[in-house]
Amino acid sequence: VERATEALKAQIGAVILNDEVQGSIGLPKNADPGVFMRAAAGTEAITVDGYGAMHAVTSKLGRGTSGALVVARTLAPFRTEERQILKAMAQALGLALRGLRTLTAERELRAEREREAEERLQLLEALRQRERLLETLLKIQRSISNRKPLEEVLDAVTTGAAGLLNSAVVTLVLADPMADGQLIAAWTCGPQETGRDDALVMAAASEAMAGDCVVTSTGDSDHPDHRSVIAAPVHVSGHIRGSLAAYTHGAGGHLVEQRELLSAFAQQVSLALTDANTVEAMREAYHDSLTGLPNRALFLDRLNHAIASSDGHCTVLFIDLDRFKAVNDSLGHKAGDELLASVAERVRACIRAGDTASRLGGDEFAILLRGAGPRTGVRVARDIIESVKEPFRIFDRDVYIAASVGVASSRGSGTDAGDLLSNADVAMYRAKKAGPGRIVIFEPHMHAEVVERLHLQADLQRALSLDEFKLQYQPLVQLDNLHPVGVESLLRWTHPERGIVPPSLSIPVAEETGLIVELGRWVLRESCRQASEWRTTIPDMAINVNVSARQMMDSAFVSDVSGALAASGLPADCLTLELTETVLINDPDKALQQLHDLRDIGVRLSIDDFGTGYSSLSYLRQFPVNQLKIDRTFVAGITKSNENLAVVRTVVELGRTLRLQTVAEGIEDRDQLKALRRLGCHLGQGYHLAVPLPPEAIPAHFASQSHLSAA
Ligand code: C2E
Ligand code: MG
Ligand code: MG
Repeated sequence: VERATEALKAQIGAVILNDEVQGSIGLPKNADPGVFMRAAAGTEAITVDGYGAMHAVTSKLGRGTSGALVVARTLAPFRTEERQILKAMAQALGLALRGLRTLTAERELRAEREREAEERLQLLEALRQRERLLETLLKIQRSISNRKPLEEVLDAVTTGAAGLLNSAVVTLVLADPMADGQLIAAWTCGPQETGRDDALVMAAASEAMAGDCVVTSTGDSDHPDHRSVIAAPVHVSGHIRGSLAAYTHGAGGHLVEQRELLSAFAQQVSLALTDANTVEAMREAYHDSLTGLPNRALFLDRLNHAIASSDGHCTVLFIDLDRFKAVNDSLGHKAGDELLASVAERVRACIRAGDTASRLGGDEFAILLRGAGPRTGVRVARDIIESVKEPFRIFDRDVYIAASVGVASSRGSGTDAGDLLSNADVAMYRAKKAGPGRIVIFEPHMHAEVVERLHLQADLQRALSLDEFKLQYQPLVQLDNLHPVGVESLLRWTHPERGIVPPSLSIPVAEETGLIVELGRWVLRESCRQASEWRTTIPDMAINVNVSARQMMDSAFVSDVSGALAASGLPADCLTLELTETVLINDPDKALQQLHDLRDIGVRLSIDDFGTGYSSLSYLRQFPVNQLKIDRTFVAGITKSNENLAVVRTVVELGRTLRLQTVAEGIEDRDQLKALRRLGCHLGQGYHLAVPLPPEAIPAHFASQSHLSAA
């Protein structure tokens, strides 16, 4: 305005912007600036206070800026060149103004952006804080669900809280519910500086526990750096059990934020403690403490879930260790426990991660194979049997055991967990009976047999006291002259409803229940008494008594035998005890000891059903036996197959070499008798020679046979 007024020799001038006089020059103090507005509107002759009539000229500021540059003078109207100058100046001004406007706008924009960036930074910081909180909580949660030790979980809580509440000292106080809320533990984490006010922390913690709320207490305001304590209650299974307290720098709004944070943490501790409590309780209720494996309850629970799951297809293995009792008895319970723990490890190594191995109790284990059928079951069973077969190193000794496995599958059987497990048990029982290290797959008919066995067990308990047992005696005959030289006593049970129950049924049941010890003792005493009685009229009479494995391993057995001999007055060498090979295989060390003790008494020992067991030769040399009874299956086949003939011949020759008496069992016809005589077998027994007889028939039979053979 100043330059334009000067250039055009004007006295007054102004710039109009947005219909307002923005800047003017030369106008007297009290004059009306409205004259510039009029001039800008096109009036060239104006009257101005203090100047009088004036010539005015105006020029617009140009595109984009509404406004004009106005000058006026008293001297003379403006010439065309002068008007041109004004126009140029107005345009320059317009340009400058537009430039300024853009600049301002830009400046404003930049300021706006800077403000936004600042906000964003704050937001980011808040987010980061939130993220850290989440991360810490997640870490805690993870350590809880990974069943980390409680201490570790609590450490995670206190360090996490300390990290988030910038350099606060966080203490977790736990009270003992049993001892009137006394302090049992305090975990502290954070910078361990001096001057920390522990009393203040404990006071706040107690207050939080007493009131079940978050409390903030501020210490002595004279204290140099003026700290506060925030404490939040901690619950375990719904009861107040402690407090999480933070000793912090915070003040004002910061403190409010920290209260919230601490409260969130306290809830985590509550969760952790409640969970850890449950975990501990669960561990105890559902795991076997010796092996760490799930127990029966948990196994059945998992099995139920597996059956109820989408396809419900699964297989159960029932494992029972063979010879475990022998280890336990001979090496002690500590060794037994050690062995079970080692077995558990091997068993676990044979299954996949999703399957379950469990210890049901004693030396029984079970395995749940999800989505598997009997074929997989048998494969895993085989792996387990192989793995368990390897020697275990227990207290510097190699210990050998074996396992019997029953396999039962759920497919199509519509069974529940209990049934499936008991099916596997039934199959395992079969496997066990078949000998060590066997696998049997469950079949439905096995059930009926189990039920029958249970009935028999119950009846057998009474039978002994009710005098339902009797003995029959089957003569043993010297084959070269057919002279009877003794008898074998055979057990007969007359069941009130079933009639005669054969020993092949009653003996195994009696073995299972342990009744065999008592029953066997009775057989032994009765046999000795009877034989002794007969010897008054039949001087050469000898007697063979069957002894079952369990009976022979009984620690009182040797004294039972000498007791029976003493009571009856029967000479020891007139008594032959018949044992089966299983006795020798199950626990060779103990068996050997027992056999030697028996031999020391003077009784004779015989191996019954010889040839049906295994490893016959290896133990024959070690065991002090006198007699081999060739199993009747070989005798039955002697006239039909060369193999059977060969077996019998081999046994007879073996007997001759080892100086053992040989007895052929189950001779049913003349041809068998002839063949055996030709082979040189010493004694014979069988329906063809004599059936088992009641005791009262024996003297007459011996008299007639001796008479016959003598003739
Ligand atoms: P074992 O000791 O081999 O007894 C011989 C079995 O063969 C007896 O069966 C007898 O009746 C049968 N037998 C005899 N001659 C013939 C024959 O010519 N042909 C056929 N097919 N069989 C014949 P039993 O009395 O049924 O006894 C079976 C098994 O039960 C016995 O086999 C023995 O191991 C066991 N046992 C019998 N009594 C007792 C006992 O008092 N205590 C124990 N622990 N076991 C016994
Ligand atoms: Mg026998
Ligand atoms: Mg036999």
